Amino acid sequence: MKTKIWSTSIWSFVYAVLVVCYAPQAFPWGSNAHERMTDAACDSLPSEIFPFFDKHRQKLAYHSNDPDRWRRELLFRIGLKYEKDLNSGQVTEDLRQVFETHGIDFPQNAEVSLRGRNGRWYITIGEQEYPIRKEADKLYLLGDKADIFENRSVDPVLLGSEGDTHFALDTKEKLLSLTSLNVYKTGDPAESPRHFLDIDIYGPYPFVELPHDYDEAVAKFGVEDVTTRGLATWCIAKYTQSLSEAMKSGDAEKIVETAGALAHYIEDLHMPLHVVKNYNGQLTNQHGVHQRFEDDMVDAYAEQIHLSPKMASELEDPLEAAFDIVLDSYVYADNLLHADRRAKLGEDDYGTPYLEKFFRFSGWIAVRRMSAAATATASYWYTAWLHAGKPELK
Ligand SMILES: [Zn+2]
Repeated sequence: MKTKIWSTSIWSFVYAVLVVCYAPQAFPWGSNAHERMTDAACDSLPSEIFPFFDKHRQKLAYHSNDPDRWRRELLFRIGLKYEKDLNSGQVTEDLRQVFETHGIDFPQNAEVSLRGRNGRWYITIGEQEYPIRKEADKLYLLGDKADIFENRSVDPVLLGSEGDTHFALDTKEKLLSLTSLNVYKTGDPAESPRHFLDIDIYGPYPFVELPHDYDEAVAKFGVEDVTTRGLATWCIAKYTQSLSEAMKSGDAEKIVETAGALAHYIEDLHMPLHVVKNYNGQLTNQHGVHQRFEDDMVDAYAEQIHLSPKMASELEDPLEAAFDIVLDSYVYADNLLHADRRAKLGEDDYGTPYLEKFFRFSGWIAVRRMSAAATATASYWYTAWLHAGKPELK
């Protein structure tokens, strides 16, 4: 799944995430998918700005995962001295206190264990089982030997994915040999709604009930509803402006960071389940379909997912273009959910046989939406540059 740029040297540590509870719509495309789309976007740029983006390709791919990082915040670290505890399944009073001091309920005499199942990892604390994921939802454990927030040249590796050929975490020993545990919680609570827009809450397609102007939308539905239903389109418009400003200022780092974050929001909005209220199949008894599609399937079949973006073009109106993305994404959502149900027929779990079928039924959706996301990202970058007055980018 990783591009050649990423595959060589950076997978030197491991990133383990413990999700304690799910916030609504808290799932992004997987970090690999974001990197691929952002990388492909660079190749879709016109020659005037291609050299700058080409030069910063790696950093752009890295920063295209920033908005997901902003959703989490380091709560505390559990030093290596607790590894033994975790390994043996016994929790010392010491470790229990660390958790409890930070408001995490840790039942008396609770055992801790790690288990792998269907290519995923879980940690259990007492009766409670938590999936280990690479995304932030509410609170999770992060295992590493370096600190990704201080060392920006490295990026986390996907933990326990069947599709990850670079680092297979196939044994508990391997996991524990690599990790100390950092505990994170949700970061900026305002961040999450920027990653989606559950447009079907606003009535039937093509959703004319929702004014595209933010102030008008708030006047009609109230700030709370507008926020919880998702702000992605307005966020994209705002970041396009910020990117223009960064380009005018000539600050290369700022340009790269802003362009990377903008790419993230655009890419998220191309994921069909980022525009519907049934974003995780929770309304149709298909819990977890979000991750099965964008992580499990996309990662496992990465080599068969070839992106073919078109060349960037100027967008007449960045906000309207974002709403167009929503309408485009929407028509794929039911297809995707049907594919999941069909692939599960006759299967007891979501293991490899399911995944093979799911790819057969819905792989084309990933190809189309990821390609379109790369095209759109390039077009937004290009448009921001035109709005900035075509400054020379160095
Ligand atoms: Zn996201």
